[in-house]
Amino acid sequence: MRIDIITLFPDMFAPVLGDSIIGRAQKSGAVEIHTHQLRDFAFDKHRRVDDTPYGGGMGMLMKAEPIALCFEAICAETGTRPHFIYMSPQGKTLHQQRLRELADIDNACILCGHYEGVDQRVLDSLIDEEISIGDYVLTGGELPAMVLTDALCRMVPGVLTNNECFTEESHWGGLLEYPQYTKPAEWRGMAVPEVLLSGHHQNIEKWRREKAREVTAQKRPDLLKSSKLL
Ligand code: SAM
Repeated sequence: MRIDIITLFPDMFAPVLGDSIIGRAQKSGAVEIHTHQLRDFAFDKHRRVDDTPYGGGMGMLMKAEPIALCFEAICAETGTRPHFIYMSPQGKTLHQQRLRELADIDNACILCGHYEGVDQRVLDSLIDEEISIGDYVLTGGELPAMVLTDALCRMVPGVLTNNECFTEESHWGGLLEYPQYTKPAEWRGMAVPEVLLSGHHQNIEKWRREKAREVTAQKRPDLLKSSKLL
Protein backbone atom coordinates (compact mmCIF):
# COMPACT_ATOMS: atom_id res chain seq x y z
CA MET A 1 0.00 0.00 0.00
CA ARG A 2 1.20 3.50 -0.81
CA ILE A 3 -0.19 6.50 1.05
CA ASP A 4 0.53 10.08 -0.08
CA ILE A 5 -0.23 12.83 2.39
CA ILE A 6 -0.78 16.46 1.36
CA THR A 7 -0.02 18.78 4.26
CA LEU A 8 1.33 22.16 5.28
CA PHE A 9 3.25 20.46 8.09
CA PRO A 10 5.11 17.44 6.67
CA ASP A 11 7.62 17.47 9.55
CA MET A 12 4.88 16.35 11.94
CA PHE A 13 4.71 12.88 10.38
CA ALA A 14 8.17 11.29 10.62
CA PRO A 15 8.39 11.36 14.45
CA VAL A 16 5.14 9.38 14.67
CA LEU A 17 4.98 7.20 11.56
CA GLY A 18 8.75 6.71 11.29
CA ASP A 19 8.91 4.87 14.62
CA SER A 20 7.71 1.54 16.00
CA ILE A 21 5.61 -0.84 13.89
CA ILE A 22 4.76 1.56 11.05
CA GLY A 23 8.37 2.77 10.94
CA ARG A 24 9.57 -0.84 10.53
CA ALA A 25 6.86 -1.49 7.92
CA GLN A 26 8.21 1.41 5.87
CA LYS A 27 11.79 0.21 6.19
CA SER A 28 10.82 -3.31 5.09
CA GLY A 29 8.93 -1.88 2.10
CA ALA A 30 5.55 -3.34 3.20
CA VAL A 31 4.08 0.18 3.08
CA GLU A 32 5.16 3.46 1.50
CA ILE A 33 4.22 6.77 3.11
CA HIS A 34 5.06 9.99 1.25
CA THR A 35 4.36 13.47 2.58
CA HIS A 36 4.00 16.45 0.22
CA GLN A 37 4.47 20.09 1.23
CA LEU A 38 1.46 21.91 -0.19
CA ARG A 39 3.40 25.21 -0.28
CA ASP A 40 5.60 23.75 -3.02
CA PHE A 41 2.53 23.87 -5.30
CA ALA A 42 1.57 27.51 -4.70
CA PHE A 43 2.68 29.19 -7.92
CA ASP A 44 0.66 32.43 -7.85
CA LYS A 45 2.40 35.79 -7.41
CA HIS A 46 2.40 35.58 -3.59
CA ARG A 47 2.75 31.78 -3.32
CA ARG A 48 -0.30 31.67 -1.10
CA VAL A 49 -1.96 28.46 0.04
CA ASP A 50 -4.79 30.18 1.90
CA ASP A 51 -7.09 33.17 1.50
CA THR A 52 -10.11 34.84 3.11
CA PRO A 53 -13.55 33.27 2.61
CA TYR A 54 -16.01 34.87 0.18
CA GLY A 55 -18.97 36.30 2.08
CA GLY A 56 -16.76 37.22 5.02
CA GLY A 57 -16.31 35.46 8.31
CA MET A 58 -13.56 34.22 10.54
CA GLY A 59 -10.26 32.71 9.48
CA MET A 60 -8.66 31.56 6.27
CA LEU A 61 -9.45 28.83 3.78
CA MET A 62 -7.05 26.61 1.87
CA LYS A 63 -7.02 27.54 -1.81
CA ALA A 64 -8.08 25.04 -4.48
CA GLU A 65 -5.31 25.36 -7.07
CA PRO A 66 -2.27 24.27 -4.99
CA ILE A 67 -4.24 21.22 -3.80
CA ALA A 68 -5.23 20.29 -7.35
CA LEU A 69 -1.66 20.73 -8.62
CA CYS A 70 -0.22 18.66 -5.77
CA PHE A 71 -2.76 15.87 -6.33
CA GLU A 72 -2.08 15.89 -10.07
CA ALA A 73 1.66 15.62 -9.38
CA ILE A 74 1.00 12.61 -7.11
CA CYS A 75 -1.13 11.00 -9.85
CA ALA A 76 1.70 11.53 -12.34
CA GLU A 77 4.32 10.18 -9.92
CA THR A 78 2.34 7.05 -9.02
CA GLY A 79 0.93 6.48 -12.52
CA THR A 80 -2.53 6.04 -11.03
CA ARG A 81 -5.34 8.06 -9.45
CA PRO A 82 -5.17 7.35 -5.71
CA HIS A 83 -8.39 7.19 -3.67
CA PHE A 84 -8.49 10.80 -2.44
CA ILE A 85 -9.54 11.26 1.19
CA TYR A 86 -10.09 14.57 2.98
CA MET A 87 -9.76 14.40 6.78
CA SER A 88 -12.70 16.45 8.01
CA PRO A 89 -14.92 16.76 11.08
CA GLN A 90 -17.80 16.72 8.57
CA GLY A 91 -16.85 13.29 7.18
CA LYS A 92 -18.20 9.87 8.08
CA THR A 93 -16.80 8.78 11.43
CA LEU A 94 -13.99 6.28 10.99
CA HIS A 95 -14.86 2.69 11.88
CA GLN A 96 -13.01 -0.62 11.62
CA GLN A 97 -15.51 -1.82 9.01
CA ARG A 98 -14.62 1.05 6.64
CA LEU A 99 -10.92 0.50 7.36
CA ARG A 100 -11.30 -3.14 6.30
CA GLU A 101 -12.71 -1.99 2.97
CA LEU A 102 -10.05 0.68 2.51
CA ALA A 103 -7.28 -1.84 3.25
CA ASP A 104 -7.87 -3.33 -0.22
CA ILE A 105 -6.83 -0.07 -1.87
CA ASP A 106 -3.26 0.03 -3.20
CA ASN A 107 -2.98 3.83 -3.44
CA ALA A 108 -4.56 6.38 -1.13
CA CYS A 109 -3.97 10.11 -0.90
CA ILE A 110 -4.91 12.03 2.25
CA LEU A 111 -5.52 15.77 2.34
CA CYS A 112 -4.94 17.47 5.69
CA GLY A 113 -6.96 20.62 6.11
CA HIS A 114 -5.94 23.57 8.25
CA TYR A 115 -7.39 26.94 9.27
CA GLU A 116 -11.13 26.96 8.49
CA GLY A 117 -10.79 24.10 6.02
CA VAL A 118 -10.71 23.83 2.23
CA ASP A 119 -12.43 25.55 -0.70
CA GLN A 120 -15.64 23.57 -1.33
CA ARG A 121 -14.77 23.14 -5.02
CA VAL A 122 -11.90 20.83 -4.08
CA LEU A 123 -14.36 18.59 -2.25
CA ASP A 124 -16.86 18.74 -5.13
CA SER A 125 -14.38 17.95 -7.90
CA LEU A 126 -11.48 15.95 -6.46
CA ILE A 127 -12.25 14.33 -3.13
CA ASP A 128 -13.65 10.78 -3.12
CA GLU A 129 -14.39 10.55 0.57
CA GLU A 130 -14.41 12.69 3.71
CA ILE A 131 -13.39 10.93 6.92
CA SER A 132 -13.73 12.20 10.48
CA ILE A 133 -11.98 10.69 13.50
CA GLY A 134 -14.74 11.83 15.86
CA ASP A 135 -17.29 14.49 16.62
CA TYR A 136 -14.88 17.18 17.77
CA VAL A 137 -12.70 19.72 15.98
CA LEU A 138 -8.90 19.73 15.87
CA THR A 139 -6.62 22.48 14.57
CA GLY A 140 -5.56 20.46 11.53
CA GLY A 141 -5.91 17.21 9.61
CA GLU A 142 -2.39 15.97 10.42
CA LEU A 143 -3.28 14.00 13.56
CA PRO A 144 -6.39 12.50 11.88
CA ALA A 145 -4.25 11.56 8.84
CA MET A 146 -1.77 9.79 11.13
CA VAL A 147 -4.62 7.92 12.81
CA LEU A 148 -5.98 6.77 9.45
CA THR A 149 -2.51 5.86 8.12
CA ASP A 150 -1.62 3.83 11.21
CA ALA A 151 -4.96 2.01 11.23
CA LEU A 152 -4.65 1.15 7.52
CA CYS A 153 -0.97 0.17 7.51
CA ARG A 154 -1.31 -2.29 10.40
CA MET A 155 -3.68 -4.37 8.25
CA VAL A 156 -1.24 -4.64 5.34
CA PRO A 157 0.12 -8.21 5.13
CA GLY A 158 3.54 -8.49 6.75
CA VAL A 159 3.19 -5.43 8.98
CA LEU A 160 2.02 -7.35 12.06
CA THR A 161 3.29 -10.85 12.86
CA ASN A 162 0.13 -12.45 11.48
CA ASN A 163 -3.45 -11.50 10.62
CA GLU A 164 -4.75 -12.70 13.99
CA CYS A 165 -2.97 -9.73 15.53
CA PHE A 166 -5.74 -7.52 14.13
CA THR A 167 -8.64 -9.93 13.48
CA GLU A 168 -8.64 -10.97 17.16
CA GLU A 169 -8.90 -7.40 18.35
CA SER A 170 -11.68 -5.07 19.44
CA HIS A 171 -14.07 -3.94 16.69
CA TRP A 172 -12.94 -6.44 14.04
CA GLY A 173 -15.90 -8.76 14.52
CA GLY A 174 -18.12 -6.13 16.11
CA LEU A 175 -17.23 -6.92 19.73
CA LEU A 176 -14.56 -5.64 22.12
CA GLU A 177 -11.66 -7.90 22.98
CA TYR A 178 -11.67 -10.25 26.00
CA PRO A 179 -9.47 -9.41 29.04
CA GLN A 180 -5.82 -10.40 28.78
CA TYR A 181 -3.15 -11.20 31.37
CA THR A 182 0.60 -11.72 31.38
CA LYS A 183 3.12 -13.03 33.92
CA PRO A 184 3.15 -13.33 36.91
CA ALA A 185 0.13 -15.61 37.43
CA GLU A 186 -0.56 -13.77 40.68
CA TRP A 187 0.06 -10.06 41.12
CA ARG A 188 -0.71 -8.15 44.33
CA GLY A 189 -3.22 -10.77 45.39
CA MET A 190 -4.98 -10.88 42.01
CA ALA A 191 -4.85 -14.20 40.18
CA VAL A 192 -5.08 -14.87 36.46
CA PRO A 193 -8.33 -16.77 35.65
CA GLU A 194 -7.68 -20.51 36.11
CA VAL A 195 -8.89 -21.44 32.61
CA LEU A 196 -6.07 -19.43 30.97
CA LEU A 197 -3.49 -21.53 32.80
CA SER A 198 -5.19 -24.83 31.93
CA GLY A 199 -3.74 -25.27 28.43
CA HIS A 200 -7.22 -26.46 27.30
CA HIS A 201 -7.61 -24.54 24.04
CA GLN A 202 -11.35 -25.15 23.52
CA ASN A 203 -12.17 -23.97 27.04
CA ILE A 204 -9.93 -20.94 26.61
CA GLU A 205 -11.67 -20.06 23.33
CA LYS A 206 -15.11 -20.45 24.95
CA TRP A 207 -14.05 -18.28 27.92
CA ARG A 208 -12.70 -15.61 25.60
CA ARG A 209 -15.91 -15.51 23.50
CA GLU A 210 -18.03 -15.19 26.63
CA LYS A 211 -15.80 -12.51 28.10
CA ALA A 212 -15.78 -10.54 24.83
CA ARG A 213 -19.59 -10.39 24.96
CA GLU A 214 -19.54 -9.52 28.66
CA VAL A 215 -16.99 -6.71 28.21
CA THR A 216 -18.91 -5.33 25.21
CA ALA A 217 -22.21 -5.41 27.12
CA GLN A 218 -20.54 -3.58 29.98
CA LYS A 219 -18.54 -0.94 28.09
CA ARG A 220 -20.29 -0.55 24.72
CA PRO A 221 -23.80 -2.04 24.79
CA ASP A 222 -24.55 -0.13 21.57
CA LEU A 223 -22.12 -2.43 19.70
CA LEU A 224 -24.00 -5.57 20.72
CA LYS A 225 -27.09 -4.44 18.82
CA SER A 226 -25.22 -4.43 15.52
CA SER A 227 -22.90 -7.38 16.23
CA LYS A 228 -23.09 -10.33 13.81
CA LEU A 229 -21.60 -12.58 16.49
CA LEU A 230 -24.70 -12.61 18.66
N1 SAM B 1 -14.28 24.86 9.70
C1 SAM B 1 -14.30 23.43 9.75
C2 SAM B 1 -15.68 22.95 10.17
O1 SAM B 1 -16.30 23.61 11.00
O2 SAM B 1 -16.11 21.88 9.69
C3 SAM B 1 -13.25 22.88 10.72
C4 SAM B 1 -11.85 23.14 10.28
S1 SAM B 1 -10.66 22.46 11.39
C5 SAM B 1 -10.35 23.81 12.46
C6 SAM B 1 -9.21 22.42 10.40
C7 SAM B 1 -8.89 21.07 9.76
O3 SAM B 1 -8.65 20.10 10.76
C8 SAM B 1 -9.99 20.48 8.91
O4 SAM B 1 -9.95 21.02 7.62
C9 SAM B 1 -9.67 19.00 8.95
O5 SAM B 1 -8.74 18.64 7.94
C10 SAM B 1 -9.03 18.82 10.30
N2 SAM B 1 -9.94 18.23 11.32
C11 SAM B 1 -10.39 18.84 12.43
N3 SAM B 1 -11.16 18.04 13.16
C12 SAM B 1 -11.18 16.84 12.53
C13 SAM B 1 -11.82 15.60 12.79
N4 SAM B 1 -12.60 15.41 13.85
N5 SAM B 1 -11.62 14.58 11.91
C14 SAM B 1 -10.85 14.75 10.82
N6 SAM B 1 -10.23 15.92 10.50
C15 SAM B 1 -10.39 16.96 11.35
